[in-house]
Amino acid sequence: MKEGERVLLVDKRGKRYLVKVEDREFHTDLGILKLGELIGKPYGSRIETHKGETFVALKPDINDIIAKMKRGPQIVHPKDAGIIIAYAGISPGDTVIEAGAGSGALTIFLANTVGPQGRVISYEVRKDFYEIAKRNIELAGFSERVTLKNKNIYDGIDEESADHIVLDLPQPENVLPYAVEVLRPGGYFVAYTPCMNQVHRFFQAFQEYRDHFMRPRVVEVLVREHEVKKECMRPKTTMLAHTGYITFLRKL
Ligand code: SAM
Repeated sequence: MKEGERVLLVDKRGKRYLVKVEDREFHTDLGILKLGELIGKPYGSRIETHKGETFVALKPDINDIIAKMKRGPQIVHPKDAGIIIAYAGISPGDTVIEAGAGSGALTIFLANTVGPQGRVISYEVRKDFYEIAKRNIELAGFSERVTLKNKNIYDGIDEESADHIVLDLPQPENVLPYAVEVLRPGGYFVAYTPCMNQVHRFFQAFQEYRDHFMRPRVVEVLVREHEVKKECMRPKTTMLAHTGYITFLRKL
């Protein structure tokens, strides 16, 4: 681990801390850690607090970054990001146009998928959310493959072409006229919307553009976690019941 790098410290309870490796003390309820002790050590190394409690230092992944980063608006949940990426076949090297960036969570999932040869161009209309997304994308280390624009995508798309368009904003139908010009044949238009009436309104507007796309698909993703205990394995009593509807259109 190098000085200035971010690492994930995990304690015996599984509690996680995202910290910068530097020569300073870090206070926890299990005691004080000297973060400078991590410099030059490999990931997986253990350090002890002044009370003798052990922490393991791991390389943070994007889920750790997203869990710990500053939030502006509500983020797209990993279960929904996963299905967006899988169903649209988003791949390394792709160019994806996104809006709105919001807190940057979906941007980070997309940037992680397109890789260093790909690009994510993300529009965010609000300056305060643009700043939050910018910081979070930097924190994830993806600034070079993401172009963030403080712009309203309803006014148009600057880019001439894209492999996919992924939207998490109130009126995705406003982007359809630009999408038919910009999307490559075979690419996907994906719209994430929390409410059913948004899906309905979208499909009313879509009728005008239906000849440009294959038959649409709308999904909702439910993930049920289980408790695994010595005497009993069963579904958890609570679950995340609803996040959003995801509409997929494939360009002809
Ligand atoms: N997907 C984001 C994430 O995972 O962090 C969250 C997006 S948030 C729910 C919706 C965002 O869309 C807001 O930040 C809002 O300002 C932005 N937005 C709404 N209309 C927009 C537009 N016409 N152009 C660009 N951004 C827009």
